[in-house]
Order: sequence, then structure tokens, then C-alpha cells
Amino acid sequence: MDAEPKRIALITGANQGIGLQIAKDLAAQSLVVLIGSRNPVRGEDAANLVGKNAHALQLDVTDEGSIQLAAEHIQRRFGRIDVLVNNAAISRSRQMPGTTLEERIKSTRVSSLSLDELRDVWETNVFGVVAVTQAMLPLLRQSKAARIVNVSSSVGSLTKNSDRDFIYRSTFNPVYPASKAALNAMTVAMAIELESEGIKVNAACPGFTKTNLNNYSGTQTVEEGAREPVRLALLGPDGPTGTFTDSAGPIPW
Ligand code: NAP
Repeated sequence: MDAEPKRIALITGANQGIGLQIAKDLAAQSLVVLIGSRNPVRGEDAANLVGKNAHALQLDVTDEGSIQLAAEHIQRRFGRIDVLVNNAAISRSRQMPGTTLEERIKSTRVSSLSLDELRDVWETNVFGVVAVTQAMLPLLRQSKAARIVNVSSSVGSLTKNSDRDFIYRSTFNPVYPASKAALNAMTVAMAIELESEGIKVNAACPGFTKTNLNNYSGTQTVEEGAREPVRLALLGPDGPTGTFTDSAGPIPW
């Protein structure tokens, strides 16, 4: 009897951090993992690190041409995608060397932020996710049990940030946190559209994890951070759609 064909997972921004760990964990579960990386050399390095189930794929989520070429490559080589993890994100687009923390906080406030900075962050964290999902949907529709995981953050929870006691409330701003609130809205919209086709779409918060995104100030390891996205990537037929969770359970939207 033929063995079940291996499931195919595409992870964006998988050349480092939580994305790389998600790739390692899915490869360990015998999935073929496509390591999305905007820099091809870093993608190859990451694929070599993950091992034989991994393939590097040049993919810049803000570049339509790159997304299209990636989709065409996957179509030719694999014919489908079973799991899409929209993981790539940035917390800011400008480096601000020599500035104080106060100046950096001020640069994210509605009253004083740069609209270019706002557009850059949303381009990656929100529009990039929609663009990649749209391009990959024909391939996801070739799967018998497609899953989409959007890697979000509890700092984007509008409910939590409406609670005066929420510890991160003072850091809520239109740049990174609001981009994750918008990503959550996209998750609900995708889940609603795709539920009749059996494509499950969920948002995961990895938790505060030591990565490049926060200058390695997080308190969790990447192994801990990858846990919830990986769980959602591997959901069985009875799994939910349209949820927002971390490894401790549901997060309010
Ligand atoms: P990271 O180490 O900085 O990794 C981010 C990845 O995204 C990198 O591979 C980066 O590529 C890639 N990326 C950025 N812009 C891209 C683009 N335009 N096209 C393709 N790839 C792009 O950060 P991380 O902490 O692992 O973040 C992973 C996810 O977890 C993000 O969605 C983040 O918002 C979320 N998250 C993280 C934390 C945390 O505490 N770390 C908490 C909550 C949520 P380069 O290497 O080329 O820059």
C-alpha cells in the first residue's frame, strides 16, 4: 500500500526566530517545509539547518512579484500546500540608533508617528499576509485538509487593551500592536470565507519570545514560542476555525 503523501507547509519569515522553530517542529512531524525567506542565502542556510524535509523559497511578503514566483514554483514542484503559516512580521521599519526610550515611544504615538513607518509595518504584517494568502489559496484548495495559521500577538487584543489593568496597555499604539489587531480582523474574515471549504484559519500568539524582533529581550525560548502555531498547523478534522489562542488557551479579540 502507498504511504500517505507528505503534507506540505509554507512558513513565511522562516529563516530565523519563531518561524525557523515552527519549520523545525513541522519537519520533525514529517511535513515537507518550505522555508520562506526574503533573503535567499539566509533561506538556504535555514533549510540546511532544518534538514532533508526542508526547501528554501525566496519570498518577500511585500513584493508581489516574489509572491507570484513563489506560488508558481510551489505549483510546479508540489502542486499544493496543506499548511500556510503567515509568520513574517516586523515591529518597526526604521532603526533609531542613539535615541532614548522616550523618543522611541513618542515615535509610535498617533500624535507624532511617521506615516511612512506606519505604512511599512502594516505592509508587512497586514497587507503581506493578505497578499500571500490570496496567492496561495489555489494551492491550499488542492489540499484535503488545509490549515492557515496567522502568527499574531496578544498586544493586538482590543479587549485586553480596553482593560485599564492590562500591563501592556500603555504600549498600545497604531504601529505594531494595531497591525496585529488588523491581522486578527483578517483572520476572522478569512475563517468566515473559507469555513464552507473546510479550510481552518486561526490566529496564534507565541508569547513574549527571545528573538530579533524584540532585541532578544523576550522571556520565552523559540521552542516555547512555536508551540501554539505548530498545534494550530496540525489541527485535525474536529479542530476549530476562527480562534485566537496562546498555549494557555483562548485570548479575547
Ligand atoms: P524575528 O526573529 O524578527 O523573525 C521575523 C521573520 O520575518 C524574519 O525571518 C524576517 O526576515 C521575516 N520578515 C520580515 N519582513 C519580511 C518580509 N517583507 N518578507 C518576508 N519575511 C519577512 O521575529 P519573531 O519574534 O520570530 O516573529 C515571528 C512572529 O511572531 C511575528 O509575526 C511576530 O509578530 C510574532 N510575535 C513575536 C513575539 C515575540 O515576543 N518574539 C510575540 C508575539 C508575536 P529577515 O530575517 O530577512 O529580517
